[in-house]
Amino acid sequence: MTELPKTYRVKNFGCQMNVYDGERMSELLGAKGMRAAADGEDADLVVLNTCHIREKAAEKAYSDVGRLRREDGSKPMVALAGCVAQAEGAEAKSRSKMIDLVVGPQAYHRLPEMIAEAASGRRPVDTDMPAISKFGALPARRKVGPSAFLTVQEGCDKFCTYCVVPYTRGAEISRPWADIVTEAHSLVDGGAREITLLGQNVNAWDSQDEKGRAGGLDSLIRELAKIDGLERIRYTTSHPADMTDGLIAAHGEVEKLMPYLHLPVQSGSDTILKAMNRSHSADSYLRTLEKVRVARPDIAISGDFIVGFPGETDEDFTATLNIVDAVGYASAYSFKYSARPGTPAALMEGAVAPEVMDERLQQLQARLAEHSLSFNRATIGRDTRILIDRKGRQPGQMIGKSPWLQSVFVETDATIGDMLDVTVTQALPNSLGGVLRCADSA
Ligand code: SAM
Ligand code: SF4
Repeated sequence: MTELPKTYRVKNFGCQMNVYDGERMSELLGAKGMRAAADGEDADLVVLNTCHIREKAAEKAYSDVGRLRREDGSKPMVALAGCVAQAEGAEAKSRSKMIDLVVGPQAYHRLPEMIAEAASGRRPVDTDMPAISKFGALPARRKVGPSAFLTVQEGCDKFCTYCVVPYTRGAEISRPWADIVTEAHSLVDGGAREITLLGQNVNAWDSQDEKGRAGGLDSLIRELAKIDGLERIRYTTSHPADMTDGLIAAHGEVEKLMPYLHLPVQSGSDTILKAMNRSHSADSYLRTLEKVRVARPDIAISGDFIVGFPGETDEDFTATLNIVDAVGYASAYSFKYSARPGTPAALMEGAVAPEVMDERLQQLQARLAEHSLSFNRATIGRDTRILIDRKGRQPGQMIGKSPWLQSVFVETDATIGDMLDVTVTQALPNSLGGVLRCADSA
C-alpha cells in the first residue's frame, strides 16, 4: 500500500487526438484534487500517453518508462496510457515492473479508481472499448488556450492495410451532436477563439441534431459557427472518400471555417493505393480537390505520404512526385513505411530496401518543401489576421497562426489569444514574417 499521488505529469506522444486525451486526463486528475507538477519537480504520478503508429513504438515506450526511475532509486507511480497500452495490455506489466497501471484510450475516464487500486498494490489493466462513451464520465472543460482541440469522432473502420488505428482505437464512433455543442460552448467560455474538431476520420462524423435530423460534419460546423466568441473552426484528419459535397460547400459558405484542408493521399500510384486498401484513386483525389478549390479558391491543402510501401517501384514513386506537383501542397507530413505487426501489409512481399526508402523520402521532402515555400511566398504582401498562440524566441516577438495555418512571426506587445491584423513581409518554408497593421485584443 502506497500513498495516493498528490501531483501528476501527463506526457503526450503522437497525434493531436493524444494531445486532446492528455488534456482531458489532466483535467480529470485536477478535478480529483491532484496538482500538475511544476517544471523540474518530481511528479508522484506520471502518465505516458503513448503512440503506436510507427515502428519500435512499444520499445520506445518501455525505455521512456525505464527513464522515470529517479537518481535515489525511487520511482513515481507509472500509468501506461494511449495506443501502446491498448496494444500491449496486461503484457506490459510483465515487460516492465515499473508500470503500475495500464489504461487504453477508451478507458481513461477510470484513471482515478485505477490509481487507487494501484496505490493498494494491485496493478490494474483496462483496455476495454465499452459502448458507453468515456466522454460522459469526464469533467466539463474549463480554462483552455486560445486554440483548443475537440474530439468528435474516434476509431476507424477503413482498415488501410498498413495502419494500426482500427486495432488500437477500435471501431468508428461519432460523439453525439448535443455533447459536442455543449463542449464547444465550454471551450469558448474557457478562452478558446479557435476550435479544431478531431477524429481519425473526422469527416466521417455523422450524428443527429437536437431535432433528430441526420447530419454530417458540415451541419455540425454550421451549428458551431453560430457560437459568439468562436472565431475559427478547423477539422482534421479527413479521408478523401468522406469529402461530401455538403462539406465542400461549407468551405465556400461558412466564414469561420478556415481555408485549410488536411487530406492525406498517401501515394500517387493507383497500384499502391489499391494495395493500401485506400478507396480513392489518384484521379478521384484530384477531382475532389478541384471541387474544394472551386468552393474556396485560396484553400491551403495539406497531406500525408508513405514512401516504401511493399512493392513500391520507381514508377510508383514517380507517380507520388507527380501528384505532389499537381496539388501544390502548402504543407505535408511524409513517412517511411513501417511494418506494423498484425496489419495485412506486414505480411506482404516486396519489401523496399531501407536505403531506397531513405532516398525516396529525401526526394519527396525536398519536393514538398519547394511547394510549401512557393505557397508561402505567394502570401507576401497579403494583409491577413493571425491568432497569437505563443511567444517567439526574440524579445518582443510573438507567433500567431494565419487562416492557412502558417506560423507568422511578428514584433508586438500583444499577448497570447489576441487577434492581430498583419501584412506578410517575409516567407520561409515553414513560417512567415509579418508586420502589424492594427491591434485588437478584444
Ligand atoms: N486517418 C488518417 C488518414 O486516413 O489519412 C490518418 C491517421 S494516421 C494516425 C496518420 C498518418 O500516419 C497516416 O496518414 C499515414 O501517412 C501514417 N502512417 C500510418 N501507419 C503507418 C505505417 N505503418 N507506416 C508509416 N506511416 C504510417
Ligand atoms: Fe489508419 Fe486513416 Fe486508414 Fe483509418 S483511414 S486505417 S486511421 S490511415
